[in-house]
Amino acid sequence: MMKLAVSWEVKRITTKFEFKIARSAESFYDVVIVKITDGEQAGYGEAAPSRRYHDSTTQVTTLLENLTNEIISLPVQDAELRQAKIEALFSDSLSLQAALDMAFWDLHAKQLGKPLHQVLAAEIEMPISSYTIGISDLDMIKPKLDEAITYPILKIKLGSPQDEEIMGVIRQHTDKILRVDANEGWKTVDEAKRRIEWLAGQNVEFIEQPMPAMQLDDIAKLHDWSPLPIVADENSVRPEDVPGLSGVYHGINIKLMKCGGLTNALKMVALAQKHHLDLMMGCMVETSVAISAAAQIGSFMRWLDLDGNVLIANDPFIGVGNVAGKLILSNEPGIGVRRR
Ligand code: MG
Repeated sequence: MMKLAVSWEVKRITTKFEFKIARSAESFYDVVIVKITDGEQAGYGEAAPSRRYHDSTTQVTTLLENLTNEIISLPVQDAELRQAKIEALFSDSLSLQAALDMAFWDLHAKQLGKPLHQVLAAEIEMPISSYTIGISDLDMIKPKLDEAITYPILKIKLGSPQDEEIMGVIRQHTDKILRVDANEGWKTVDEAKRRIEWLAGQNVEFIEQPMPAMQLDDIAKLHDWSPLPIVADENSVRPEDVPGLSGVYHGINIKLMKCGGLTNALKMVALAQKHHLDLMMGCMVETSVAISAAAQIGSFMRWLDLDGNVLIANDPFIGVGNVAGKLILSNEPGIGVRRR
């Protein structure tokens, strides 16, 4: 087999909706597509860096440039060893860790001639994914609900003083199941309890990250009381975070861009099962590369929020299908993506 080679390109992806309160950074995102080839097959990965985790596109491309030789020396088949090396080399960029891990898994599965979900002993059938309604101003809620008409489960972002108005407008137009992400927005236990109690009567399925990640002791006070499951997102970053969330949360949201890829995501699955935590898989705004990689292990989850690729207008890749929230995996080898 030939020596490995790595290449990458920055892609500017734009969201379907221009946010009216346009901070321009919210209508486009620069992701980095990474390709690792063995001379015959190519594996694809994607880094969608997030400022929340001190990551950036520039950081990703600089690391790729500076550590090219180290990347092409990583082992294709031994995921554990590879992940340990990736974490040591790229401790500053979680999204690049994810991109490399994905690209190597894609390449490995292609070398085996199998779809990756088969290699990872996951199933084709998986839960219905939610579709996220980003909240800008109240006038935009109706058009966004129209855009989402085929999706049976919606995820909405609350956690601002406008919560009641937003829910009011949504419930004027739809009684669909809603998943609420407060994104650390409620600052006291009292406020969180008031909001959760109020939402529990409105066909809401669960609450994601009700309070700031720093306030874990406060969040723990909601655990036994809460009428709705509470799911960790900002508190559930890496595998080592999972044991400490038992008794604090009811579930964890795994994202490839936070945890460093599929290898660590699988570790988080095992840890969550051990600690009796429910499993959710989420994403950033991502192309079909990262979403197709995540969907490979979608069958291990109770809840899916893998809508990144359907939120964007110019996906450079074709991969996993999304029909009214039902994700359709291909039977092609690897993660099943190709350029559009
Ligand atoms: Mg979240």
